Amino acid sequence: MAVFPPPQRLLLGPGPSDVHPRVLAAMAQPLVGHLDPAFIALMEETKGLLRRVFQTENTLTLPISGTGSAGLEACVVNLVEPGDEVVIGVNGVFGTRLVDVATRAGATVVKAGAPWGEIVPDDVLAAAIARARRPKVVVLVHAETSTGVWQPLDEASRLAHAAGALFVVDCVTSLGGCPVEVDRLRIDAAYSGTQKCLSCPPGLSPITFGERAVAALRARTHPVQSWYLDLGMIERYWGEERVYHHTAPISMNYALYEALCLVLEEGLDARFRRHRLNHEALVAGLEALGLEMAVAAPHRLWMLNSVRIPEAVDDVAVRRRLLETEGIEIGGGLGPLKGRTWRIGLMGESSTRAKVLRLLAALERTLPRHGMAVAEGAGVAAGERVYAQADGR
Ligand SMILES: *Cc1c(COP(=O)(O)O)cnc(C)c1O
Repeated sequence: MAVFPPPQRLLLGPGPSDVHPRVLAAMAQPLVGHLDPAFIALMEETKGLLRRVFQTENTLTLPISGTGSAGLEACVVNLVEPGDEVVIGVNGVFGTRLVDVATRAGATVVKAGAPWGEIVPDDVLAAAIARARRPKVVVLVHAETSTGVWQPLDEASRLAHAAGALFVVDCVTSLGGCPVEVDRLRIDAAYSGTQKCLSCPPGLSPITFGERAVAALRARTHPVQSWYLDLGMIERYWGEERVYHHTAPISMNYALYEALCLVLEEGLDARFRRHRLNHEALVAGLEALGLEMAVAAPHRLWMLNSVRIPEAVDDVAVRRRLLETEGIEIGGGLGPLKGRTWRIGLMGESSTRAKVLRLLAALERTLPRHGMAVAEGAGVAAGERVYAQADGR
């Protein structure tokens, strides 16, 4: 198989999502130097656009060079010093990863655990905070991409602050797909990624630090464990001083800028409504085919839909046929959900009516070949009904 050109896929997995042609075109623009006035102007614009998407006034808002995991690590290693207590909500892959990163940074981790596929309840979080003596940081994953769970944040923020802790949120998958109101929710630090609902290739990780988090950064007594992710130095590079730290990935920053413009041209509210509607149409279609959602209705993410794989159905064979014959990527389950769920991402550019209906039609063709009889046309028809209702609204 020739490596280039890569095949045309419809990306309906857990990320990356489909990328708008304007973003791909931006990446093909000529390079400039990373201290060129034109690039510095782009850096400044990008910080402003990110503030609008994060719904914050935070000065320290910028894209970390690296994927979402780099943002995760940046938040942890800049806020945590050896011996600090950190409370982490663990109900999926990313909570588990946070525990690993915080432990490596020398934190004493107190877990607020919940079964995969469920939220971390407020009382479980409160109990974990109470078990810690003086928690410095409380971290939750807003959109747990491994399970499709939407974690409520309001009460959690109150609990964290009442304990005198910083409230940190992983919004890698939620940013650009549902509200991430950093200032209203009093989130002290948050990180995201470009490849989910921002619909940009993987490679940058937007972060934002509020005043309390910046104060914690300034008050550190140990140097930040990671040289590359040391925000004190990165801040000087992205701020007025422009002191060279590392070379920003120029083309990735072109791409992010264009992707953020697309988000704000659409408007946050319209974008959230679109994600919600396509989720509702997908769920209606899947249920009409006889499939069951894996997450309870009140806690389902719009951008990541977990579906139970029926007993008789061959997980891998279905996904392979969707990819090879239909050109559609969906995700398999992770950890305890491996072989038990599919993860259907409707993120950013991937969240459209045409793409939802294309997937439903493809499932109608594919499932009967791999162990599940379905009423042909039922999925698409149910999806169409949701759109028709919305058109009438
Ligand atoms: C994807 C994801 C990450 C990690 O992002 P990478 O781009 O894979 O490094 C972290 N947290 C959540 C919730 C994610 O969905």
